Amino acid sequence: MIPTVAPAPADADQAGSTTAAGAPVPRPGRAALTRLSRHRLLGSPGAVAGLVWLAALVIASLTAPLWLPFKTEDQDFTAVLSGPTAAHWLGTDELGRDILSRIFAAAAGTLGTSMITVIVGVGLGTILAMLAAGAGERTETAISRVTEVMMSLPGTVIILAVIGAVGTNIPLVMAILGILMSAGIYRVILGQAKSLQSQLYVDAAKVDGLGPLGISVRHVLPGLANTVVVQAALIFAVGMLIQAGLAFIGFGPPIPQPSWGGMIQGASQHVYDAPWMMVPTGAVLALTVLSANAIGNALGKAPNAAAPHLPSAADRRQRAKAVAAIAAAARDAEETGDAGTDAGAKGTLSVRNLSVGVDNAGTGTGVQLVTGVSFDVEPGTVLGLVGESGCGKTMTALSLLGLLPSGVSATGGQILWNGRNLAATPDKDMQSVRGREIALISQEPMRALDPMFTVGYQLTATIRRLRGMGRSEARAEAHSLLEKVGIVDAGRILKTYPHQISGGMAQRVAVALALSGRPKLLVADEPTTALDVTVQAEILSLLRALVKDTGMSVVMVTHDLGVVADICDQVAVMYAGHVVENGRTAAILDNPRHPYTLALLAADPHANHADSMPERLATISGQVPQPKDWPAGCRFAARCQFAGSACLEPVPLLPSSAGDGLVRCVKADQLAIEGMDWLATDVPAGRLLPVSPVSSATPEPAPEQDSIVEKDLA
Ligand code: SF4
Repeated sequence: MIPTVAPAPADADQAGSTTAAGAPVPRPGRAALTRLSRHRLLGSPGAVAGLVWLAALVIASLTAPLWLPFKTEDQDFTAVLSGPTAAHWLGTDELGRDILSRIFAAAAGTLGTSMITVIVGVGLGTILAMLAAGAGERTETAISRVTEVMMSLPGTVIILAVIGAVGTNIPLVMAILGILMSAGIYRVILGQAKSLQSQLYVDAAKVDGLGPLGISVRHVLPGLANTVVVQAALIFAVGMLIQAGLAFIGFGPPIPQPSWGGMIQGASQHVYDAPWMMVPTGAVLALTVLSANAIGNALGKAPNAAAPHLPSAADRRQRAKAVAAIAAAARDAEETGDAGTDAGAKGTLSVRNLSVGVDNAGTGTGVQLVTGVSFDVEPGTVLGLVGESGCGKTMTALSLLGLLPSGVSATGGQILWNGRNLAATPDKDMQSVRGREIALISQEPMRALDPMFTVGYQLTATIRRLRGMGRSEARAEAHSLLEKVGIVDAGRILKTYPHQISGGMAQRVAVALALSGRPKLLVADEPTTALDVTVQAEILSLLRALVKDTGMSVVMVTHDLGVVADICDQVAVMYAGHVVENGRTAAILDNPRHPYTLALLAADPHANHADSMPERLATISGQVPQPKDWPAGCRFAARCQFAGSACLEPVPLLPSSAGDGLVRCVKADQLAIEGMDWLATDVPAGRLLPVSPVSSATPEPAPEQDSIVEKDLA
């Protein structure tokens, strides 16, 4: 296994961590707020307009005494029931009172008391949900029964009864309304809170000694932020409408204190002789309710909230543009005779100069994650893509299926498969390729299995969809597939749910699922990483047998050189987004030409024979550079023990002097002649030439350095 060279900071939980791309990962609560503000509210014109309206209304109502032209009780008997005039911009009511002044004077009370409903309702509902989710079944049952009783009560009758008992105490009435609404909010939030309580990081927090309250506040509440905020926005709008309704039927603030509902009630009595009077108050109430709803809708309409890894509509448009650009480039190349590749034999996968990039990748301006990757996979063979995390292996593999994550697209090159360039194939056409011609096994088998359905249902449904079989025929085929992947008790496993089987069994089922459409190529993204050693060996042996029996080919993504040695016929070593060495597995493992391959082997305990096991395994100092920091010259230079001045220039992938492989190193032959070794001791990168991380596209001229690395410099 390739060692991790950069251990996580001990205080990662406190300080935050970093993503694979090097961006800081905010804490859950902060991340939730960032998502809310950046992607949803500000991305929705309606929500932005609503926010502006609410902010203006709050500011205007709070500062009303400073700027209102009239007091709410001032009467102008010369302008009773008038429309808009220079003196009264929104007209007057039946007593000659200024409508504009009364609307804004009433706004603060309406908004404030609606907030009481929000705070009581959402606060109580959230607290009850977190308590029920964290305190065990008996507490949950008790709280659920109480909330069910609350939901069965006639809310309107209770509100009217309260008003009858205590008078029109609006804050109290709105608080009781909040209590009644909390039962519904509890039901909405409970399921999510229980799901969060079952997460592994909550178990880890328990192991760390965090109590129920700490877990609820630190780990559950941030995860509920989205739902809570959405509920709050909707309850705010409902509270305003109910309050206006109460005032309309005479249970609002006492006269002459203005309220929106009371003003609408007054206007309704003059709907024939002064219809305008209804307009200003009604419009303000409607706009305020619409604003709250727009904000709630925007917060609730998270792009792919259920599946954040799936591309949004904008991502799909971007990807379609990138596909069209690649197709156009391929057509141009064909017309000019520069295509330089043929479609290859049927069943052979030929990847040529593949590039993958992010964001504006379709226009060529995004950061590139993979550049110039080429390889072939013959039928019945296994190609290993190997390298550290962040080297572009998974991006390369997923691009074969058109399954790159949201915001990432293939930006150039060709993926030639059965006469078709998959890099230039629209997503809808890729659907006929996925599953039927090329299938995927992921690192985490549970990702391929839906916990809601039995293994049998999922296998049968997939077989029927991909192969058009009838139900009983598909069931028999599912049984046969499970036996083929080495499951002895196939009949019983068909009836089980994914959570009832072990990880190794789940991976076998995932392999069976991948084989449902009889694919000719299997993309296996670290299929054994999550399994223990014994099961790893079983799954590798299964894949080997499948390749032999079916003639299927496999692209195996792995960082484990043991897996490469075990199953791969060919290997492509990737570093910082491109291939640094490829060729036959035996040749590369026995006689590596690139220092990075050499370093990986030196760091792998499996690659060292017991009798020659060094006292200390080698390490590779430093980290894989971020794509935006790739140097103009050799991308491995900042970590390479053999770096020299020639390494500051771009390095092409050239035929290796030994065997039939290719290698991207200016000193490959020179070092091979000298019999190079990757030193286990902490040797600074570029021991021939101090190579600081090269981030400039035009490196400084380096001093001439011609000496050759001695085998044992240390
Ligand atoms: S010797 Fe130079 S070209 Fe070769 S891997 Fe090291 S830095 Fe890169």
